[in-house]
Amino acid sequence: MMVKLVDANPRSQIARLGERILNSGQISRDEARSLFNLENSADIFDLLSWANRIREKFKGNKIHLCSIVNAKAGACSENCSFCAQSSFYQTGSPKYGFVDPEPVAEAADEASKNGVTAVGLVAAWKGLNEGPLLDEVCARVRELKAGGKTRPDVSLGIIKSQRVADRLKEAGVECYGHNLESSRRFFPQTCTTHTYDDRLETIGYLKKAGIKICSGGIIGMGETREDRCDLAFSLKEIGANVVPVNILNPIPGTPFEKNEPLSVMEILKTIACFRFILPRQEIMIAGGRTVNLRDAQSLIFMAGASAMMVGNYLTTLNQPVEKDLQMLKDLGLDPSWDKHGFSDQEETPMHRDCGKDNCETEAELAIAK
Ligand code: SF4
Repeated sequence: MMVKLVDANPRSQIARLGERILNSGQISRDEARSLFNLENSADIFDLLSWANRIREKFKGNKIHLCSIVNAKAGACSENCSFCAQSSFYQTGSPKYGFVDPEPVAEAADEASKNGVTAVGLVAAWKGLNEGPLLDEVCARVRELKAGGKTRPDVSLGIIKSQRVADRLKEAGVECYGHNLESSRRFFPQTCTTHTYDDRLETIGYLKKAGIKICSGGIIGMGETREDRCDLAFSLKEIGANVVPVNILNPIPGTPFEKNEPLSVMEILKTIACFRFILPRQEIMIAGGRTVNLRDAQSLIFMAGASAMMVGNYLTTLNQPVEKDLQMLKDLGLDPSWDKHGFSDQEETPMHRDCGKDNCETEAELAIAK
C-alpha cells in the first residue's frame, strides 16, 4: 500500500530527504513510496529541484549518451507484451538475421562523430548459448572495440552459463543491457515465456564476469507506483550501473497497444524518485522519450536524469541527434562523459533483507540456486 508523507508539510519532508542524500545517506522504501505518491504539482516541482541537486552533486554536468544498433531484428520467441519484435504479435516490424560488420562500423562512426559514449548491439532473441552465433557476436564486439571509437555494449538476452558471460567479457564487452522491466510482482504481466529469476540469474553471471550492468525498466505498462518503487530498489540491490527508464510507446498489434499514456508530471516524478533511490547511478532516459515527453524533454535533467539514449530506437524513431545535442548545450550540460569506468558509483550495495554490507545480492543468489 502507498504511504502518505508523515510530515504535514511535503516541502520540508522532500528537503529533509534530499539533504540526507546529498550527505551520502539513503532513503527507506517507505520514504520512497511517499515520494512516488506525491500528487500536487508544486510538490513535484520541489522534488525535481532536489533531484537536480542530487544529480549535480554526484554527476556534475556530465551527460552519458548511448546509442543502439538493432543487431538481429524481429521474430523473437518471447512474448514481452510491449515489444514490436515478438513473434507472438503482428506489428509489421522488420525481421533480419545477425548484423554484418559494416552497419556496426557505420554506427560507431556516427556515434563517435556525435560524442556518444557507447554503441550497444541489441538482438531480438531469447538469449545466447555457446556455439557459432556466440562466435559471431564476439567477432562483432572485437571489431567494435578494435575500432576504438565507442564503448562496446551489448544486449543479448538471457545467459544460462558463466562461460558465455566470460567469453563476452574476453571479447571486450564492457556493459550489458538486461532490464528487469518492472517489479517482480508485475513482471508476469509483461512476459510469460521467461521469468524474473531468469533475468536475475543472467545479471549474476555478467557481474561475476566483471561486466557492468545496464538494467532498468519500462513505465506506463499498467504497473502501480509501488511497482516502480520496487523496481528502483531491485536495481539498487543488483548494483545496476546504468538504469534505463523507458516510457511505454504503445505499439499497434501488441497487448499494450491501448494503454493510456502516463502524464508528463508522473513521468518526471518517477525519474526524480529513481534519482533519490539511485543517487550515483547513470539514470538514462531511453525509449518513448520523444513521444511521451514532447516539449518537456529537457526537464528530464532537472528530474535527475544523467544519461540519454540518442539516435533511433529499435523499432521506433527518436528526434534527431543534433536536436538532443543542442538541448544539452542550451542547458549547460556536457555530453563528453568521462571514461572513468563508472568509478564515481562506488558505494556499498544496500541489502534489503539482511542489512549487511557483504552478503550476496539477489542476482548472485540466483546463480547459487
Ligand atoms: S523484449 Fe526482447 S526478449 Fe522480449 S520479445 Fe522483445 S526482443 Fe524478444
